[in-house]
Amino acid sequence: MEIIHDVAKMQARAETLRQEGRRIGFVPTMGYLHEGHLSLVRAARRENHIVAVSIFVNPAQFDRQEDLQSYPVDFEGDHAQVKAEGADLVFVPERQIIYPPGYATFVDVDRLTSRWEGAYRPGHFRGVTTVVTKLFNIVRPHRTYFGQKDYQQACIVERMVRDLDMDIEVVVLPTVREPDGLALSSRNVNLTPEERRQAPMLYQTLCWAAERIKGGEHNARVLEEGMQRMIHEGTTATIDYVALCHPETLEPLEQVAGPAVALLAVRFSKARLIDNLLINVH
Ligand code: AMP
Repeated sequence: MEIIHDVAKMQARAETLRQEGRRIGFVPTMGYLHEGHLSLVRAARRENHIVAVSIFVNPAQFDRQEDLQSYPVDFEGDHAQVKAEGADLVFVPERQIIYPPGYATFVDVDRLTSRWEGAYRPGHFRGVTTVVTKLFNIVRPHRTYFGQKDYQQACIVERMVRDLDMDIEVVVLPTVREPDGLALSSRNVNLTPEERRQAPMLYQTLCWAAERIKGGEHNARVLEEGMQRMIHEGTTATIDYVALCHPETLEPLEQVAGPAVALLAVRFSKARLIDNLLINVH
């Protein structure tokens, strides 16, 4: 496994591999890797000749300095894990390599970025789409892998790839969860033990909504109120949003009469968590 810190070197490696006819699968991450990230690396391993993983805590996508400062880091653990999964290349740039002095160019996706995470974290998606575009230009992948865990992010990246004619296939894979249902997240380490006990309530709430919908309750407001109540009663978290949305436009639904996605975001004392569930109404 080769660790690369330098943009020109990474581009040269990618160019050589592409000329040899090798297909490159790419998993962008912010490190502190867990089974959710590794599920993406494994899929990339199965489906491509070469697996590249990037580890970069992207300051441009953090709307709050404290969140950036408390973001966990474990380079050695990360390297060991991606090596064990058979990754070929790990791209680990320094911040000033990605954003050198004078940096002035940003990529912005309209509409899909305005609600939910976009509304609660101003500038977040602009940071994501900018760094993902840069990483695509550096790693030059044929395919790239994203988690459904960050549902809105995956929709936005798919939109950007289509809109900007990027010749890359975006693969979105299911959320990996703890046995009790909590979605794996690097931020879960910032939960207190008591909050960690409460946190599975988020997934239970999503499953409750899916069950109610299957049982015939299609009124989105009623469902959202029920979900809010469960979170208020079962946790000490503050709710940023709980919403039933169209799975492609992410616009809020009045009636859940077709495919939908339930999205939620809550804040515990030192960790903001998001989760979602795709719901199919038959
Ligand atoms: P991050 O390091 O948080 O930027 O995540 C890197 C990639 O891993 C993103 O595409 C995430 O959606 C994905 N990811 C994070 N957590 C999970 C999870 N629990 N299950 C599946 N994918 C995940």
